[in-house]
Amino acid sequence: MTTITNHLPTAELQALDAAHHMHPFTANGELAQKGARVITRAKGVYLTDSEGEEILDAMAGLWCVNIGYGRDELADVAARQMRELPYYNTFFQTTHVPAIALANKLAELAPGDLNHVFFAAGGSEANDTNIRMVRTYWANKGQPDKNIIISRKNAYHGSSVGSGSLGGMVHMHAQGGMPIPDIHHIDQPNWWAEGGDMSPEDFGLARAQELEKAILELGEDRVAAFIGEPIQGAGGVIVPPETYWPEIQRICDKYDILLIADEVICGFGRTGDWFGSQTVGIKPHIMTIAKGLSSGYAPIGGSIVCDEVAEVIAGGEFNHGYTYSGHPVAAAVALENLRILEEEGIVDHVRDVAAPYLKEKWEALADHPLVGEAKICGMMASIALTPDKASRAKFATEPGTVGYVCRDRCFANNLVMRHVGDRMIISPPLILTPADIDEMMRRIRKSLDEAHAELVEKDMMKAAS
Ligand SMILES: *Cc1c(COP(=O)(O)O)cnc(C)c1O
Repeated sequence: MTTITNHLPTAELQALDAAHHMHPFTANGELAQKGARVITRAKGVYLTDSEGEEILDAMAGLWCVNIGYGRDELADVAARQMRELPYYNTFFQTTHVPAIALANKLAELAPGDLNHVFFAAGGSEANDTNIRMVRTYWANKGQPDKNIIISRKNAYHGSSVGSGSLGGMVHMHAQGGMPIPDIHHIDQPNWWAEGGDMSPEDFGLARAQELEKAILELGEDRVAAFIGEPIQGAGGVIVPPETYWPEIQRICDKYDILLIADEVICGFGRTGDWFGSQTVGIKPHIMTIAKGLSSGYAPIGGSIVCDEVAEVIAGGEFNHGYTYSGHPVAAAVALENLRILEEEGIVDHVRDVAAPYLKEKWEALADHPLVGEAKICGMMASIALTPDKASRAKFATEPGTVGYVCRDRCFANNLVMRHVGDRMIISPPLILTPADIDEMMRRIRKSLDEAHAELVEKDMMKAAS
């Protein structure tokens, strides 16, 4: 199918892009040689590029386009809000209707006494807020030394200096002077890669108990909070063993440690509930939100805070905020997105239709010669590629080499599926129908078959010794 394009030829756009645009998380020199793919429009679950190719977006952009592309309602709301009040701040004892309405809606949707919202323009900013908020909470309570935040290796909490420090990505820490002080990282609950001979259940408990060990070592009076994604996203869609989160909750309760759930990916229906915390059965004091909050149509994030923490913070001035905290256009767009999620029953669709159907197809991938485990929670899923399933072997090649081969086959087959090391991951729009899922799985299987054939031909199906 060809689409008539109303812009410059692809090669020209790519050259201009390479000349002036610095891409995030990219070796820009390498990309300049190759040329970036130019996306021109999108509808439903499909992207269109400048060559007129129709690409199935199994990543929902960057884990965010939960309601799918091309919903005019959001564009209409944005235009209306821009005409009425394009901007005003919420700093100087002022407020506006979109911020009021969105905060109220979020308080209604969030579980328990998570009733207060501090807005940001995205997840990184919101996690920076969280660092300062939990430390200020304890300082206001007379415990300024209770300021260490415990996180996990291979966690992703954003890319600002604060949130990147909370995250546990070694390649990020290697650049630009991270992590900041008083952030402590424990091991992740990644059984496939790190579980050794333990059962997943025992391993989940052991990894959770590292939190207790860390608290005892650092001192209960030094540890302010623990932060975790209910399901690790950017780390490779790591679904923890079922024993993991209940034990983390028990430890946080026992030692009076605040629990922060980073719901930036898991929130707003992705796991089949409104929030991942509900799926894994935890009661956080703070939830980080962004991405699916607006389905990516406008940049907005925030922290949803429980009564007790909000009350202590309200006891003094919190010297923190962003120009775009509660931006009226972004807030209005988010509110409309939540209306659509709710009125169209999209969270129910995930739980009752899309996720069960996808689970059946996804878990069947474990039969493929290249696939070890296939893990899924709601509409986020991963497969571990391996040269030997029985021993959960890693490849002899540099980690990520095989994943990249597979990712390239996906790209060629007009499918956006990402690789994290040698894991392949998806996080598609939540509106996927069973027919969409069939088409996605067809492209995934084709890409896996081609990648496998290429690896066999290049003699790369070899285990690391
Ligand atoms: C994407 C992400 C963030 C960062 O959000 P930005 O909007 O990119 O700043 C934080 N936490 C998690 C779990 C994420 O996936």
